[in-house]
Amino acid sequence: MKKIMTKNILALQVCFFLFPLFAFSQTISYTLSMPEPWTHYYHVTQTIKGERKKSIDFIMPVWIPGSYKVREFSKNVEEFKAHSEKSDNLKWEKIDKNSWRVYTNKANEVTISYKVYAFVKSVRNSFLDDSHGFVSPPDVFMYVEKLKNRPATLVIDPYDEFLIISTGLEKSPGSKNSYIVPDYDILVDSPIEIGNQTVFEFEVEGVPHEIAFYGKGNYDSSAVDEVKRIVEETAKLFGEIPYKRYLFIVHLTKSASGGLEHLNSQVLRMGRWNFQPASRRGRWRSLVAHEVYHLYNVKRIRARELGPFDYTRENYTTLLWVMEGFTSYYSGRILLNAGFISPKKYQSNMASHMRKISNTIGNRYQSAAEASFDTWIRYYRRNENSPNRDMSYYDKGKLLGMLLDLEIRNSSGNKKTLDDVMRRLYSEYYKKKQRGFSEAEFKKELERAAGIDFSDFFVRYVHGTEEVDYGKYLSYAGLEIETLEAPSLSEKGAFLGTKVSESSGKLKITRVQRDSPAWNYGLNMNVMLLIRVKIFSKSFV
Ligand SMILES: [Zn+2]
Repeated sequence: MKKIMTKNILALQVCFFLFPLFAFSQTISYTLSMPEPWTHYYHVTQTIKGERKKSIDFIMPVWIPGSYKVREFSKNVEEFKAHSEKSDNLKWEKIDKNSWRVYTNKANEVTISYKVYAFVKSVRNSFLDDSHGFVSPPDVFMYVEKLKNRPATLVIDPYDEFLIISTGLEKSPGSKNSYIVPDYDILVDSPIEIGNQTVFEFEVEGVPHEIAFYGKGNYDSSAVDEVKRIVEETAKLFGEIPYKRYLFIVHLTKSASGGLEHLNSQVLRMGRWNFQPASRRGRWRSLVAHEVYHLYNVKRIRARELGPFDYTRENYTTLLWVMEGFTSYYSGRILLNAGFISPKKYQSNMASHMRKISNTIGNRYQSAAEASFDTWIRYYRRNENSPNRDMSYYDKGKLLGMLLDLEIRNSSGNKKTLDDVMRRLYSEYYKKKQRGFSEAEFKKELERAAGIDFSDFFVRYVHGTEEVDYGKYLSYAGLEIETLEAPSLSEKGAFLGTKVSESSGKLKITRVQRDSPAWNYGLNMNVMLLIRVKIFSKSFV
């Protein structure tokens, strides 16, 4: 016994003395510059000290978390070079589409450099021109697998006329443009806006928030106040704010809209004139609320497969209907709680949502779980036949969120709600176990709150495509559903079941609806219609 104790004490002492050496034995530093932004090229370097290996593999991700599609970011890398303290020109070779093997010959300090062409306007791609730079880190910075969890520094050298840098990364103390990178996952999750953006600031519960607007637009401080209300309402659902600082990067464009969630930031693209009058802000509010709720659901409350990520391939989960669909359900609830929409409007929104689900053909052919799993090859790679076979796990998940909330409230005698389940997932899995959950664990948490078995629900509505028994669930809230007969053909007028495009007076079929007359009688895509048809609507004719 004594001997063992002595051994342990010795081991502890060895650890104590070795730890500081070990902790600082390797250092990683990145630099980013953009001397000629009009060429759309970022210049990147990465230096690793202390590895002393024969070779090091530098890898660029093939996808960005939150957008489930392999995007092959490495295609934009050019002029890759490597050097060390021993050699100005280290030998290297590509070993696959996104990995560079550098023969470092046990050098202590190895630096790679390359340029990245960045000219895609999107929340998930980097962009650079003479008006601003947006850095989406997975398509700019590489990593070394074994060193992914190590801290690093990032020094940004902005173009002379770019005066402001906005990012969720913390600044290194005492330096102007140097940032602390706790690990590669956090770097990937910290987009950077560089330019002359307009920055607003506000606090929620003493936590600072910034909104950085790039581009012209008719926003003002009242639009910022609305964001503050959304953050406050979301935080109330969980009882705490899980970050020290939060950043909204907003790209104002002609008409586009979309967003991407990150750990302590979000990136939004929004129509520049959609802020005035305030009644036009519906899309803005719901986009902000969706991405703010994501900072809990998916960034912290998450399916087991969604972190730590494998950046080199697809990461499959059957739970995107929870990650995305529940986020859509809650964004509506947050806007309701914040007073942006009335209870009556909320009810009518949900009614049209149910109508949409029932009338979407894909819901009869693809389940929520299957759509989640296959999103890499289906939802994110749609074609002309997608509406006939694919569903949206955003839409179905939003509906399932409402049904589960109603069921939990009813079965627990209004003692529990879906909010309790989300809070429990947050405290039990994110905070305590510090990991994601499996589908079985998620189902167990629902059952724990409701006190009933959800196996049948999962078979019918999560893994199955059965039409939802709306009447049953709505009755829990004292609501009824009125089902209307679809108009008959004679009431509807002529119906072919095709979408068409018109060019030089000719009509070309661009889509054929499943089970429609066109489908049943063999009209195909790209067929030119040789009949003269007067089009009353751009939808199906
Ligand atoms: Zn989302």
